[in-house]
Amino acid sequence: MNAALKIDQLNVDQILERVKAMALQYFDQQDTLSPGKFIPDISMEILPEHGMGAHAALDYFSVHYAGKITNSAGPRYFGFVTGGSTPAAVAGDWLVSAYDQNACGSNDSIAPQLEKQTIHFFHQLFGLDQEFFGSFVTGATIANMVGLAIGRQWIGEQHHIDISNEGLTHCPPIKIISASPHSSVLKSLSMLGLGRKSVITIPTLPDREAIDILELENYLRTNPEPCIVVANAGTVNTVDFDDLEAIGKLKSLYPFWLHVDAAFGGFAACSEKYKHHLLGINDADSITIDAHKWLNVPYDAAMQFTRHPKLQLKVFQNSAAYLGDPAQRPDFFHYTPENSRRFRALPSWFTLMAYGKEGYCEMVERNCCAANYFGECIEQSEHFILLAPVRMNVVCFTLNQENITFDFIQQFLNAVRDDGRVFFTSTLYKGTPAIRAAISNWQTKQEDLELAFEVLTSVLKKLTDVNQATTNLA
Ligand SMILES: *Cc1c(COP(=O)(O)O)cnc(C)c1O
Repeated sequence: MNAALKIDQLNVDQILERVKAMALQYFDQQDTLSPGKFIPDISMEILPEHGMGAHAALDYFSVHYAGKITNSAGPRYFGFVTGGSTPAAVAGDWLVSAYDQNACGSNDSIAPQLEKQTIHFFHQLFGLDQEFFGSFVTGATIANMVGLAIGRQWIGEQHHIDISNEGLTHCPPIKIISASPHSSVLKSLSMLGLGRKSVITIPTLPDREAIDILELENYLRTNPEPCIVVANAGTVNTVDFDDLEAIGKLKSLYPFWLHVDAAFGGFAACSEKYKHHLLGINDADSITIDAHKWLNVPYDAAMQFTRHPKLQLKVFQNSAAYLGDPAQRPDFFHYTPENSRRFRALPSWFTLMAYGKEGYCEMVERNCCAANYFGECIEQSEHFILLAPVRMNVVCFTLNQENITFDFIQQFLNAVRDDGRVFFTSTLYKGTPAIRAAISNWQTKQEDLELAFEVLTSVLKKLTDVNQATTNLA
């Protein structure tokens, strides 16, 4: 055995102790570490000929890189819709790496069974029918891809074509019908050979991101070919929800596959206050829900659900002599894009066991309450304009200035990032350059939003003063 490896094998305890200390230091800095910083490109180093061992690698990492880690998992990172990692989720995730199970098969580890158990928890958390088959994938993008791949297989069947074997050559063009699809849906369509241009965009209701049901029905009536409808349960800009119940009713009249992208909006189900948004979700053929966002587990976890596991098996079955007959052993690797699979259900299992339904209800409602508070600050301020009502946990707003450009929004957000106390990302909302505050972290409190508002106003004042001075000089 290599000498460095041999030494490490004997010193696993010390190595893990050091990692624990570093992780604790990260948690201890929650109030001081910047949620985002600009890091200039690092220089690419030469691969060591002789390894230095884990201790020296930890030293090297601490000296060169640890200081550049940001508090993006902390309470004042409001970019995208991310979330951090609950203590129980971190515990689960550490064990995933230590145990390193391959959650693919069914007869050599508890891992796949615990994955099924975790999916069973999610049925209950989200109020999904037990008939939904579910599995873990790496993120909502892949969950969307899986749902659309099964939908594609279903469309093939309507034309008596087994697309998993025949490909798309003899299949009429497949249309994807949606009002405000997430960018990952377009990426999935590219990966699936359906093409980004296969999307037919249906108008939204006025001042909304939700689909206009009459327009949808009109399309379905005049285009009788089977198609895929991608409904949104929580858009990223304004957390708008398509009327899933109404879309479900259309299923008895027109032939379509209903895929629901509920990446983070699915967590509305945790709260009595918000769960009405998801009425009708059980009419879906496939559903996407992320775990590494509002569940607050580490990255690399989302769930895909479908009512049609047989079709899913057709798409993803991985036939090889040594893998057994999928009909006899319905193992996960016959259902998911991955063959070898990380035991990525475990952090979710831990956090659900640790905090339960009530814990997630409290987190979702606290985050939404903080968003409401922040939305009120924005609405009452002369410097900002609220672009949409705050429905749940995202506040979409812009600067109250004429001819606001995307570049200026970005310049402003870079200055906010460099201030070091809060972090936001930009967006384009119905053509208007805008800012989003997404609140989905388990630690976030109203005080964090109070500070965020203070930072936004003071940074804006500084930036406007500087720009004014420059204009005066010119
Ligand atoms: C984040 C998100 C996705 C993509 O999820 P990843 O986990 O980043 O792959 C898809 N749809 C919606 C609505 C999202 O919010």
